Amino acid sequence: MARSVVGKAVRPAHYVAGEFRPAGAARFPLVDPVDGAVVGEVPEADRETVDAAVAAARAALAAWGGSPVEVRAGALRRIADGVEARFDEFVDAEVADTGKPRDLAASVDIPRAIGNFRAYADLLYGRPERAHSTAVPGWSGGTGQALNYTVRRPLGVVAIVSPWNLPLLLLTWKVAPALAAGNTVVAKPSEETPSTATLLAEVIHEVGLPVGTFNLIHGHGAGAAGEFLTAHPDVDAIAFTGESATGTAIMRVAAEHITPVSFELGGKNPAIVFADADFEQAVAGTLRSAFTHSGQICLCTERVYVERSIHADFVAELGRRAAASTDYGPMISAAHRDKVLSYYRLAVEEGATVVAGGGVPSFGDERDRGFYVEPTVLTGLPQSARTVREEVFGPICHVAPFDTEDEAVALANDSPYGLAATVWTRDLSRAHRVAPRVAAGIVWVNCWNLRDLRTPFGGIKASGIGREGGEYSLDFFSEPVNICIAI
Ligand code: NAD
Repeated sequence: MARSVVGKAVRPAHYVAGEFRPAGAARFPLVDPVDGAVVGEVPEADRETVDAAVAAARAALAAWGGSPVEVRAGALRRIADGVEARFDEFVDAEVADTGKPRDLAASVDIPRAIGNFRAYADLLYGRPERAHSTAVPGWSGGTGQALNYTVRRPLGVVAIVSPWNLPLLLLTWKVAPALAAGNTVVAKPSEETPSTATLLAEVIHEVGLPVGTFNLIHGHGAGAAGEFLTAHPDVDAIAFTGESATGTAIMRVAAEHITPVSFELGGKNPAIVFADADFEQAVAGTLRSAFTHSGQICLCTERVYVERSIHADFVAELGRRAAASTDYGPMISAAHRDKVLSYYRLAVEEGATVVAGGGVPSFGDERDRGFYVEPTVLTGLPQSARTVREEVFGPICHVAPFDTEDEAVALANDSPYGLAATVWTRDLSRAHRVAPRVAAGIVWVNCWNLRDLRTPFGGIKASGIGREGGEYSLDFFSEPVNICIAI
């Protein structure tokens, strides 16, 4: 097979029914966010390509869905090994598409993608009672004795649509459990980040799953490949990560065929810092939670509530460190840079005090043609300000004071979103009291983004539907079927 890597650039291709498809006439440019240069072309899947991918996935279902656990687990392990064997290529491709610091791609994105496949290979063995059956002797309404047992069936053809911020990590976070549970897949990565998904298709091709088990299409979302896929009548489930507004659009078309959805959506994540917190740990943790990957992680903190007695010191120290940071990547695109800068302007119009950042940095090199914005710390806005309520998805956080525990919880919960939250305190009782009251799917205490892949991951309110992680993903990607035998 001819590999799609040319130097460090990847030539994105669709992968349908076990073949890499030559691009049709419709293509769009791939832009390097570091300097704005056009570095390649991405094929745009038309309806016919999407139909072919879904049909291929349907045709593969019996072979893959009916394969024994050890076959599926073995394939997942070989995919993990295959990604690991080409680790540097994957890192290069992720860095080329996103502009993120190489350290981040090499320590988080690619290792986690490998880990996703291994974790689900392991989990398949860890749940025999689910993968096989549970026998429960019982009786039914006085009409006779019965033996009930439950088996889990794959859902069928699963559409996976993923965003650009952690491209391979978030794609494989769904592909691995979907395949583990015996489904076949049609995946569409973000139009901004097609490269590592293409490399993954190459690895899967070499591993040799039944033809059509995994298919990859590229293209845009609304009115294009993403919508063709999620509106497809022969798709049995949709697993989506992206903006809440896109979730609304997908849910609308999914309603037509009552297609089940798993949604990981946007956030406006709060941090609560109590005066009894370890000050250094809280500042350093908040710096990391607000500015990792230039704030372009769904779990990043954009609202910080600090107990009034330490608010001024906290704001000053966070601002000093944000202003001093230099090793950060760009926004993913010119359009996203413009969106983030529009919030920087809006914050000032709304009356914010800009403690750090607020503009475009000047590096004196090619990055000045790229899509960079400064890490920005704000204070002084009311809770009703749009800057405090709307997801920016950039390196921005607003720091407001609070006086009581109840007020802190109320402020944290006053949001249409509920993905993740962070609580900083040295008081164990307070931590246990406050954490369950915060309306979010994940609450970290004295840490941020510390992940165990077996734990439930997901949001409440506009941040999503359902949970991923460990058993939770396997539950979404399969249907329990009860079998009742009269005895
Ligand atoms: P996005 O919603 O713009 O795009 C995500 C994917 O959906 C892309 O592949 C896109 O092509 C596709 N898409 C867009 N419109 C579509 C439509 N109408 N029908 C079908 N597909 C469509 O999101 P993004 O800008 O790529 O990512 C950033 C967003 O993702 C942020 O809101 C962030 O909070 C969220 N996010 C959430 C999580 C989480 O786990 N909750 C993780 C990462 C990112």
